[in-house]
Amino acid sequence: MGLIALFKKLIRYVKPYKYLVIATLTLTFIGSFLAQVNALVLRYTVDELTLLAENNNGFKEGISLLLTISAILLSKELINAAIQYGQKYYGEKLKIYISRDFAQQVVDKILTYRMSFYSSPENESGKLQTRIDLGISSLTQLVKNFFIDILPLFSNALIALFLMFQANVYIGLVSVGVIPIFFYISSLQANKLKGFRRKMRGFRETRNNGIIDLISSITVIKSFTREDLESKKHEDIQFDMTENQLKTRRLSFLFNGVKVFIEQFGVVIIIVLTSYFVLNGTMSIGAIMFHILLFNNVSAPIRELHRIYDEVNDALIYSEAFFDIMDANETETEGSYIPEKVVGKFELKNVDFTYPNDTKALFDVSALIKPNTINALVGLSGAGKSTIINLLDKFFEPSAGNILLDGVDLKEYNTHWLRNHIGLVLQKNHIFNGSIKENILYGQEDATHEEVVEAAKKAHIHDQIIDLPKGYDSKATMLSGGQKQRVAIARLFLKNPPIIFLDEPTASLDAIATEQIKKSLDSIKKGRTVIIISHSISQIIDAENVIVLEKGKVVEEGTHEELYDNGSAYYNIFNAMANSLNLDKIADTLHE
Ligand code: ADP
Repeated sequence: MGLIALFKKLIRYVKPYKYLVIATLTLTFIGSFLAQVNALVLRYTVDELTLLAENNNGFKEGISLLLTISAILLSKELINAAIQYGQKYYGEKLKIYISRDFAQQVVDKILTYRMSFYSSPENESGKLQTRIDLGISSLTQLVKNFFIDILPLFSNALIALFLMFQANVYIGLVSVGVIPIFFYISSLQANKLKGFRRKMRGFRETRNNGIIDLISSITVIKSFTREDLESKKHEDIQFDMTENQLKTRRLSFLFNGVKVFIEQFGVVIIIVLTSYFVLNGTMSIGAIMFHILLFNNVSAPIRELHRIYDEVNDALIYSEAFFDIMDANETETEGSYIPEKVVGKFELKNVDFTYPNDTKALFDVSALIKPNTINALVGLSGAGKSTIINLLDKFFEPSAGNILLDGVDLKEYNTHWLRNHIGLVLQKNHIFNGSIKENILYGQEDATHEEVVEAAKKAHIHDQIIDLPKGYDSKATMLSGGQKQRVAIARLFLKNPPIIFLDEPTASLDAIATEQIKKSLDSIKKGRTVIIISHSISQIIDAENVIVLEKGKVVEEGTHEELYDNGSAYYNIFNAMANSLNLDKIADTLHE
């Protein structure tokens, strides 16, 4: 992204705070004039003192002169302190407000994005987080640079230059001459560093993502005692990163050295030139001081220019990534159709689906889900069962073919409304960091306590909750796997959707928990359209319709009895499941 494009984007965010910008700028302009006072006063003082000394005019007049200039200098400093305070405070306020807006808007934005955005390897959580964090901090810094720092710096330098030219054209020319050299070196420096900075961004993203991965995989790492391996992986990233960092610093120091030298070279020329004019009588001695101070007013901002240059370059790099997120064309397609009521009939018509990473998961899938029936999706792992649920929930859209709900294409539906009418129970349901009550309330925020209790009772978890020391206010994350699942089911009872998808709801639970949860599952299934993915025979047998998938294709569809009699794919899967239970032994045991 170019500087101008970036500037245009930023204007949008700064507009709401235009008065803040105007106030800050006004203060800084006043500040720029005040910055020249020292030079003027010192020139006057030196000249006056020289005159007094030459005329041997005692202390009396000297003291009144010193008192006057002390008063001027101190009052100037007082005004300056007040202005600096106002300027810094308003500048910071602008930065903080804009940073808040950026942070809020990026969150609002990514919440509207479709699932494929999150499942892209480019957008792993750690990478996204780093990109957002660095993007926000460098962009807000840039806003401060553009709107608060650059103008005052230049006005300061311009006024100083004006005074210098007024005093003597040659001295003015020397000062002006330094500016393009500084600009040239700064841009050279920035260009040389660009590649390093870009690499740095990549390193930061990878490192942060690595740490998040590491924390979430800690159990596996420890159980396989792979601490050394993980540490090595991290060390490699760190090593590359520090190498890159060092090179960046080395280059920066080199360039900074050159710039300091040029600046001092300018100072020397100005001293020599002014001294020449003093000696040939065109200038007073006070002019030496005057010009050195003014030159400092010209070179100080230009020295700052390099910092701004760096920060602008950082911002260009990080903002690219940030605006890639902000402006990603990933918003979920939003239909407008809102039916009066849901019947609950799904039709899949010749659906193909390919994930963003090019894995083709479904091939020409057609199936019918009748309203108020329980439907089981059966198939080996990787057959495409969860993918179907992802499509039915509109998390992804079919690459080809259509999915209809009550005769209308899912694309046409208002997504918000649709999801409000669908309940999803996963293998591991997300339990938020909060109380059990808050977790159940996620199903319907404005539900009363009685309704929460009612939902918990239906999910067969109420008795266990009230046995906890803090009851419904206990932390939900400390519940067991089976209890968490039932809290998730209670959440669904509150939501009370007419359509329910269950994706291996008992797969991660032990037999006792599965047995306990069966009751809550049975009660939530009543009177709704249910699609269940399960490896549990009892749950499959309960289904009125079974759809068998193999490598992304529907190979059979019918009732349990019909499919079993077919003696084909379902027959094989069912027998395998039954054998894995060691039914003969179980039957023997139960007979004894
Ligand atoms: P099942 O639920 O039957 O076990 P899935 O629907 O999860 O199968 O997966 C079907 C295929 O799609 C598999 O090959 C799987 O690797 C792939 N797949 C699943 N989810 C994703 C994803 N988010 N991104 C890319 N490929 C995926």
